[in-house]
Amino acid sequence: MVNETFTINKKMESEIVMISLQQLLEQDNFTKDELIYLLSLENKNDIDLLFEKALKVKEKYFGTDIHLRGIIEISNHCEENCLYCGLRRANKNITRYRMSVDEVVNAALHIKEAGVKTVVLQSGEDSDLTQQMVTEMIQKIKAVHDCAITLSLGERSYADYKTWFAAGADRYLLKHETNNENLYKFIHSNQSLKNRLEHLLYMKAIGYQIGSGNIIGLPTQTLEDIAEDLVLCKQLDLDMASFSPFVSSEKTPFANIANASVDSTLKVMAVARLYLKNVHIPATTALATLDERGREKGILAGANVIMPSFTPHPYRTDYLIYDDKICIGEDPRQCISCLSIRISSVGGTISNSKGDSLKFTLPTILD
Ligand code: SAH
Ligand code: SF4
Repeated sequence: MVNETFTINKKMESEIVMISLQQLLEQDNFTKDELIYLLSLENKNDIDLLFEKALKVKEKYFGTDIHLRGIIEISNHCEENCLYCGLRRANKNITRYRMSVDEVVNAALHIKEAGVKTVVLQSGEDSDLTQQMVTEMIQKIKAVHDCAITLSLGERSYADYKTWFAAGADRYLLKHETNNENLYKFIHSNQSLKNRLEHLLYMKAIGYQIGSGNIIGLPTQTLEDIAEDLVLCKQLDLDMASFSPFVSSEKTPFANIANASVDSTLKVMAVARLYLKNVHIPATTALATLDERGREKGILAGANVIMPSFTPHPYRTDYLIYDDKICIGEDPRQCISCLSIRISSVGGTISNSKGDSLKFTLPTILD
């Protein structure tokens, strides 16, 4: 009898919570407190509801489409010293490389053969990767492949951004990493959050589709910080937003910091999908590094993008932002068949479009 009453009370209680959560999930927008509440859900049924709703919102805008972006990691030289990253300049235990223009174009041809219509050029902040080299890469890739080009080369000069946009680059990915100024200063001793945001706004003004986002699981980071990250992503009116879990690298000052939790990362992605709606959200390689089914789980939590690496051997094994990165021993050309099985196992279909931003308007170059 006592048990029965308890069960009934508990059921009633959980129904009350369910109903109010369901109502909250139907809202068109969220306050910061509501974001924090959603990020703090712990009950499995509640989290399942959150993921279900995130998937529905994803499908409303993108259907079952999953966009692939082929990444070429063109240089692992870096002049910055971000505390979390294995490519930081103070790490002497790494073989540094910089790919030639021809090597990059050849890797882009592999991306074309795989039917992938976005080429991402990523590197550390490497001033010896000159404006001219990147311009040539963009022009030569565009000449052989009708694709979109995303740059992810860190903070560069405004002249670089402008020249590369004029040469044909379409998108720029520069994560804000955290919207907590003190934490930002701690992890990047000689960079400022304000400056980074100004770079993003400049890129947007000259016509790039812009991507930004955070790292989840940084030391001292709170749910309020993460809610502030989401608010910033909305204010920036991003085309792409990436939320990746921190993965420890033994060659950094953060070697002893625990990896982020996969479940917390999935929750952030799902809340981001509800809040940011039609932005592209990747299921990151970092997530797949922490969980063999990370990409599938990411899709089920609202992600619509996967970014397989097409960096050729021997460089592939040296782009180690963090430890135990997946697929570095594979032939990049074989990744697509593995990915298509994974994507279809969770009801997704690989899109054959360039996957431009749903907010895309015709680019204009500033004078
Ligand atoms: N140098 C460029 C691009 C390469 S780094 C830049 O910093 O923008 C790309 C991304 O890797 C960074 O934005 C950061 O969010 C992510 N990253 C670096 N170290 C990481 C780590 N240990 N765990 C998770 N993500 C990391
Ligand atoms: Fe360099 Fe980017 Fe790594 Fe920072 S995150 S150390 S800028 S490669």
